[in-house]
Amino acid sequence: MRVKILGSAAGGAFPQWNCACTNCRAVRAGTFRGKPRSQTQVAITQDNRSWFLLGASPDLRVQIEATAELHPHDGVRQSPIAGVVLANADLDHVLGLLLLRELQPLRVYATASVRRILREDNSMFGMLHRIPDQTAWTDFASGAQFHLCNAQGEDSGLRCQAWSLGIHYPAYVTPERLSQLAPGEASLGFIIDSHTTGSPSGARLAYMPAVPQLDETLLQLLDTCDVLLFDGTFWSDDELIRIQGSGQTARQMGHIPVESILIKLAGLRRPRKIFLHINNTNPMLDEASPEYRRVRSAGWEVGEDGWQFDL
Ligand SMILES: [Zn+2]
Repeated sequence: MRVKILGSAAGGAFPQWNCACTNCRAVRAGTFRGKPRSQTQVAITQDNRSWFLLGASPDLRVQIEATAELHPHDGVRQSPIAGVVLANADLDHVLGLLLLRELQPLRVYATASVRRILREDNSMFGMLHRIPDQTAWTDFASGAQFHLCNAQGEDSGLRCQAWSLGIHYPAYVTPERLSQLAPGEASLGFIIDSHTTGSPSGARLAYMPAVPQLDETLLQLLDTCDVLLFDGTFWSDDELIRIQGSGQTARQMGHIPVESILIKLAGLRRPRKIFLHINNTNPMLDEASPEYRRVRSAGWEVGEDGWQFDL
């Protein structure tokens, strides 16, 4: 399995257009010791020919253009992008679907609840259904393993298992719709296994960009993975409140702060551990900061746009 991080920031990216926090100001001034980042986007492949996107970020057009493997290779209208796997219905995770509307056959995987929010309540997503066979939607349930296939049903060799993590739907979902949705279908993480000629090759990736809580079962599962791409949104619980003077805590927004993750996940032995979905206010983005040094000395990496690895 090949994994590419196309974007590693939380919603709003880094710098964020309306933010003048210490980090964002330093990037604009050219004095920041670290890198700007686009919104979180990961792409995976088994055969280096057909790719699956984990989420579809608002920065997707630029992220695709920056990635040669995702450019058309055969014919005038074609894309190596075979499908998209959605973890939630957050705008910074689904808006990019609208950027894939140019009649390319795609398969989109989502929970039934996320599919209903997008397709039944938001008519703009009808642009993915202008012609027959444009977009094939496949529902998945938490816990069940499913094969990642292209729009024609051809198996990629990648197996995905969804893990229910959060119960909160985005603020744009109407109260009426909310009453019809299953809480366990709101926000998921994925464990992705690579299979070659039908049997597991042993390579295993965890993609968990929003983790509101951790239990012992999940911890054990994470220790079976080769690579973790894990929620690095906020350093501390009151980060936004201290910067803005008001707002929600990290935990209220569905994110365990990094300073707690470093402690809770300290016992993991197997995986390479990478933070992504990093908010622009997070002090660990600054490579000269004590927070960055703490992350690195705890064996974690701060993910960057453009990173690639083979499992
Ligand atoms: Zn900022």
